[in-house]
Amino acid sequence: MSDEILISAKDLTVGYNIGKGFFDRTVLKAVNEVSVEIKRGSFFGLVGESGSGKTTLGRALLKAAPITGGHATFTDGEVTYDLATVSGDELKDYRKRAQLIFQDPYAALSPRMTVRDIVAEPLEVMGLTKTREETDARVREIAAKCRLNLEHLRRFPHAFSGGQRQRISIARALVSGPKFIVADESVAALDVSIQADVLNLLKQLQKDLGLTFLFISHDLSVVAHTCDHVAVMYLGRLVESAPTRQLFAAPRHPYTKALFSAIPSLDPDDRGRAQKLVGEIPSPLNQPSGCKFHTRCPNAIDKCRTTEPTLENPGDGHAVSCHRWRELLEAAITA
Ligand code: SF4
Repeated sequence: MSDEILISAKDLTVGYNIGKGFFDRTVLKAVNEVSVEIKRGSFFGLVGESGSGKTTLGRALLKAAPITGGHATFTDGEVTYDLATVSGDELKDYRKRAQLIFQDPYAALSPRMTVRDIVAEPLEVMGLTKTREETDARVREIAAKCRLNLEHLRRFPHAFSGGQRQRISIARALVSGPKFIVADESVAALDVSIQADVLNLLKQLQKDLGLTFLFISHDLSVVAHTCDHVAVMYLGRLVESAPTRQLFAAPRHPYTKALFSAIPSLDPDDRGRAQKLVGEIPSPLNQPSGCKFHTRCPNAIDKCRTTEPTLENPGDGHAVSCHRWRELLEAAITA
């Protein structure tokens, strides 16, 4: 991993106007003032419950959701795109450089197309190859990298297992030669034994092709083994962000602690110790005042109900948004 920043977002906001008429200007903020920096060549994990805004953030960075506030840039060598305003030919170029791997390998592939045509389609749509021979050569090259047999290229998706289908989806995402990949719950629909196979493939491809991943997942054990850095989202906001080892060794935000304690353990002594996450994530249309987590936080005090904490970075690369993180950390050390 290099120190170069490939994706930089500052106060990025994604809002949808859901008002019912001309005078109703209700805006739903699915992502609210999120700042992240994703280093080139890294595997950046994004976690949180359903409704936390992680998928919307990934889509905004692919220019598939509207950026309505803040800034986001993509920098690849000499090229820098402002993701809030990129359009026209620049947007077409950005689509070659940034791609999505879908969650569901069953729904993502057209049952009427052969594997060859599925993988070749982005090349043809983007005009990246001029002849059929050129297209076939590129399809064969990327299929081999994704561990697909060349004889599979003539078959239809229904002939394949879930893991093989996901490798076809990965080949399709990589055929245009992107640098940035958003993998949104890309192994969630697969059996556990197949998940490891697909994750190993993604890590290998990252190394071989110099890819940078935004890996969106609700599965913290997968994130712990795959990602270099993890950011935690709650109700559209970033609440904690740190290198993976640091985050898993000593989470600072009560929400992150609750997520971690819910990871199933094989140790019988650990069972029952889980700090349960009570209630559900509030509606983004009816957000609590102050800290958005206070309605579910076991450590909430009066200040939490009135004042929203800011994301604080104490200088060790471990940022957290909580009024009480220092005293909670000290209490945990002395306990
Ligand atoms: Fe809990 Fe208060 Fe920290 Fe929010 S600011 S996470 S409510 S202790």
